[in-house]
Amino acid sequence: MPELPEVETTVRGLAGVLQDDVLTGVAVNRADLRRPFPPDLAQVLIGARVTGLSRRAKYGLIHTDRDATMIFHLGMSGRWRIDPTAIEKHDHLVLETGRGHVLALNDARRFGSVDLVDTPLLDQWPAFAALGPEPLGPGLTSAHLATAFKDRVAAIKLLLLDQRIVAGLGNIYVCEALHRAGIHPEREAGKVSRAALNRLVPQIRDVLEESIAAGGSTLRDYARPDGELGYFAKDWRVYGREGEPCACGGVVERVVQGGRSTFFCRKCQR
Ligand SMILES: [Zn+2]
Repeated sequence: MPELPEVETTVRGLAGVLQDDVLTGVAVNRADLRRPFPPDLAQVLIGARVTGLSRRAKYGLIHTDRDATMIFHLGMSGRWRIDPTAIEKHDHLVLETGRGHVLALNDARRFGSVDLVDTPLLDQWPAFAALGPEPLGPGLTSAHLATAFKDRVAAIKLLLLDQRIVAGLGNIYVCEALHRAGIHPEREAGKVSRAALNRLVPQIRDVLEESIAAGGSTLRDYARPDGELGYFAKDWRVYGREGEPCACGGVVERVVQGGRSTFFCRKCQR
């Protein structure tokens, strides 16, 4: 499933071909993904110039000179294919550009989405309105977390997955960042010390940045004729490693919190 680093890498890859190009073709090959495609997608986008791309949480944003922004979510299986040799069955949206590029949004399971939003109203778009700060932006600080966690008895791991507290942070990255910061995932959020939060914030950034960097190298590997933007696996320190040794000499355990697996080491996470 595409997580924040994959979305960031995808946005950077798309920016490399779309920035300042004009959309000359917009083909919608089925009515819907998770929800219907905007009915006016082609009408609004054909002839528009791409002025920039960005990411918010796990959404990719393609901004145009028409004050319209196309927002995509990759769902469970979505991926963009750049200059594919042939259009495939699950290429549900195909963009063509003035410089001759073809970009296909492929989504076999169709849990993704495509929306069109007035650019000046982006912050009020329902999926964005309640989001917390970006984990890689200046808004994520230990002070922000201390305020959000104040008097909360929920486990810190669950609150870090709450998009209203931090936007776009997925299960893998929360497990890894808590491990690196030496914080037990079941600790009551309101009782985690400020010193621990000071350790946590840079670890959240580092684990995301390292994955984005790994994705960037994957992206270069994908400079193949089919031009697919791939996803990347990484050697996690605890995630998916139940029963394996931790670097500290402890053993990685798994518990279920909020219906999702948490991997941690009780020897080095307190
Ligand atoms: Zn350990």
